[in-house]
Amino acid sequence: MAFILLLLPAGLPAAAGADLASIRYNGLDYVSLDEGAARLGLRVERLVPPSAILLKDGAKPVARFADRSRETDVKGLRVFFGDPVVDHGGTYLLSRTDFESHLVPRLRPELCGPPRPVPHVIAVDPGHGGVDHGTENRALGSMEKTYTLDVALRLRKLLETAGYAVVMTRETDVDVPKQIRSEIANQAHADLFVSIHFNSLYPNTKTTGVEVLSFPPHSQRSTNSWSPGEKDDSQKADAPINAYNAWNTVLSGAMHRRLLDALKNSDRGEKFEHLGVLRGLKCPGVLVEPAFLSSDSDGARLATPAFRDLVAEAILAGIQDYADVMRRLNPAAVAPPQPGAAPASSAPARSQPTRPAPGP
Ligand SMILES: [Zn+2]
Repeated sequence: MAFILLLLPAGLPAAAGADLASIRYNGLDYVSLDEGAARLGLRVERLVPPSAILLKDGAKPVARFADRSRETDVKGLRVFFGDPVVDHGGTYLLSRTDFESHLVPRLRPELCGPPRPVPHVIAVDPGHGGVDHGTENRALGSMEKTYTLDVALRLRKLLETAGYAVVMTRETDVDVPKQIRSEIANQAHADLFVSIHFNSLYPNTKTTGVEVLSFPPHSQRSTNSWSPGEKDDSQKADAPINAYNAWNTVLSGAMHRRLLDALKNSDRGEKFEHLGVLRGLKCPGVLVEPAFLSSDSDGARLATPAFRDLVAEAILAGIQDYADVMRRLNPAAVAPPQPGAAPASSAPARSQPTRPAPGP
């Protein structure tokens, strides 16, 4: 049975809106969307019909929610929140975790606590490799592991030209265990981690589109676990990467927008999954699925180097957008680090550290 109870927040970390009143509903900690919006300097507009609610910045809608739905539109991007939004007797409720980890970072990252440094060392993770082929396009005879490495090597070149230092989790056709991939990034003191994959819904050869995956906060389920017949797979404790929930969201949003803009592919949304490759990271990280290898059309596009260049350029642009946010939030760090300031590392496949380019 649904019930509602107003509580004073106690012992919550200093996160955006941590002092907003807690509303317990079906065992979950919610905040009122009206109060949350006010905290962000936004106003709420209800649409009837259909049953939906807009957050507006002046006259401009910046987010749209629907009753009983996790699917949300934030600044034109499709995002699957961790818990459904609830219309409770005319009061829209948003889970506190969604508010703090998924909404505020997209709209007011300056409210998310101490910012991360402006990134310099980027870990690039080409998915699969060796005996692990990943998915494939049978008609075209192409394998995911080949394209992930190809795009990663193109991305490495672009990143180095832009002044970043790059650590690769693999640069040949070898299988690297997932935990080792995050360990390579950690040992290199990576500031960001980007895992590159290509999607599949084989034997469906029609579905195309961009997906971006992040690791869920410990109280929340993976997106797939909401499918019929699936079970709650939320976890009891934080994984190391959960220290960066808000910054994972900033990174994920930047990647999502750049991939959609560059590839003109349909938007399959930002989703959450307990990915072993992200779990142990000591920096923000994300896994991108820019296209469906199983699709006739995406598969054919992926077969062209020009398209793989586009993917690499979009990922670079996403990293630069994240860096721009951190420059804005770290005004003292606008000047690039001095030569030799990059952390030393014995990690494999580390390219020559170079100085990051100043922000635009
Ligand atoms: Zn994959």
